[in-house]
Amino acid sequence: MKNTADSAIILNDSTAKKKFDVYRVREDFPILSRLVNGKPLIYLDNAATTQKPSQVIESLHQYYSYENANIHRGLYFLSELATESYESARLKVKEFINAMSASEIIFVRGATEAINLLATSFARSGFFTQGSEIIVSEMEHHANIVPWQIAAESLGIKLRVIPFNENGELMIEKLPELINKNTKLVSVVHISNALGTINPVREIIRIAHENAIPVLVDGSQSVPHMPVDVQDLDCDFFVFSGHKMFAPTGIGILYGKTLYLDKLPPYQGGGDMIRTVSFEKSTFEDLPHKFEAGTPNIAGGIALGSAIDYLNSFDRMELLQHEDALLNYATEKLLSVRGLRIIGTAKTKASVISFIIEGIHPYDIGTIIDTDGIALRTGHHCTQPVMKHFGLPATARASFAFYNTIEEVDSLIKGIHKVIKMFN
Ligand code: PMP
Repeated sequence: MKNTADSAIILNDSTAKKKFDVYRVREDFPILSRLVNGKPLIYLDNAATTQKPSQVIESLHQYYSYENANIHRGLYFLSELATESYESARLKVKEFINAMSASEIIFVRGATEAINLLATSFARSGFFTQGSEIIVSEMEHHANIVPWQIAAESLGIKLRVIPFNENGELMIEKLPELINKNTKLVSVVHISNALGTINPVREIIRIAHENAIPVLVDGSQSVPHMPVDVQDLDCDFFVFSGHKMFAPTGIGILYGKTLYLDKLPPYQGGGDMIRTVSFEKSTFEDLPHKFEAGTPNIAGGIALGSAIDYLNSFDRMELLQHEDALLNYATEKLLSVRGLRIIGTAKTKASVISFIIEGIHPYDIGTIIDTDGIALRTGHHCTQPVMKHFGLPATARASFAFYNTIEEVDSLIKGIHKVIKMFN
C-alpha cells in the first residue's frame, strides 16, 4: 500500500502525465474560444496547421521579451542563454523521435525545406547519376514530388510511383517490381494529408533495405498524432513541420542518419555552417551545423521544444484514442448523409476525412459552412495526383486534433445538412 510520502513523490514527478480532458485541454488554446461570424470557432483544418497552446505562445513571448540574442556567436550572457535554449530544444526533438544523436537533428523551415535540402544535396553529391530512379507513392504531397523533379532535372531522374487502391491503401506488393539497379531512394508519406491513410512504412523500409536502398519518410502528418521512433522504424531520413504539431510556422526538422548526412554536401552557404573561409576555399562545420547556414529561427526552435514538452505532458495514447473516437464517430455520421462519399477508406486511418457531396462543389461546401464558424479545408490539398486518381478536382476535408470534440462533429454534420438543403 502506498503511504502519503510515496504519493507526494508521485505528484512531484515531472514525468507524471496529465489526465486527458478535452474541455480542460481546450482552455490551453486561446483561439478556440474566439467567435467567427458570430459563432464559436470550430477548427477542423488541423492537417493544414494546428492551433497553438498558451505554453507555446508564452515561450515565444518569454524568448523575445527576456532572452533574445543571436546564437553560437556571442560570449556574453544573453547569447549563451539563447544558444542553450535552442540546443536544448534540439535535444528535445532528438528524444521526441528517438534519434541516436542530437547532431542528426537539423533545424529547417519545415517539411518542404527538409525535402528540398535533401534533393539538392543528393543531386550535388553525385549520389544521383544519369538514369537514377526515385520511388515515391501516388499519395505524396507535392512537397515530396516537385523538389526531386527540380533538383534532378538536369540528370534526367525518373520518379517511379507506388500506386494505391480504391480505398486509398498503398499497393506495396508492387514495390519489389518498381525496384531495380537504378533505384537510389524510396521517399514516402507516413500518413496521407488527403486520404488519412496510415502507410505501412515499416514494411516499405524493410523491402527497400533488403535492396540496400535508403528510405525517407515524410512524417508531417504522423508526428502530431502518434509517437514516432526513427530508430525502431529504421528510416534513413524523417521530415516534419513544427506548425502541424502545435509549434509555430517557419520551423521544422530534417532527421537523417549520420551515415548519410556526413557524406552529403551543404545545402546553403553562409554564417554558422563554416569552419574556415578564404577566397580560395572554405571548409564546413560538422553536423548538424553544416546544414544550418545563417541565423536560424531561434524563437521557433525553442517554441518547438515547448510544443514537445506540451505533448509529453499527456499520455499520448490517450490523445490518440480521443482522435480515433472522433474519426470513428465522424465517419459514421458522415456516411449517413445522403449523397456524401468519403474519399479514402483505408483500414488504418488517422483523423483526416476527405469527402464530396453529389451535385455540390467542395468550394461551395467550404464557403457556406464557414458562415457557421466551421473551418473546413477544400481543394486538392497539394496532392493533385490523388485527385486525378479519383477523377475529382477537389474534396472537402475535415481533420481533427485532440482538442476537437464530439459536439463539434455534430455541428459539422448539421452544417453539411444546411448546405445540402440550400442546394436542393
Ligand atoms: N507533407 C505532408 C504530408 C503535408 O501534409 C504537408 C503540409 N500540408 C507537407 C508535406 C508540407 O509541409 P510544409 O508546408 O509545412 O512544409
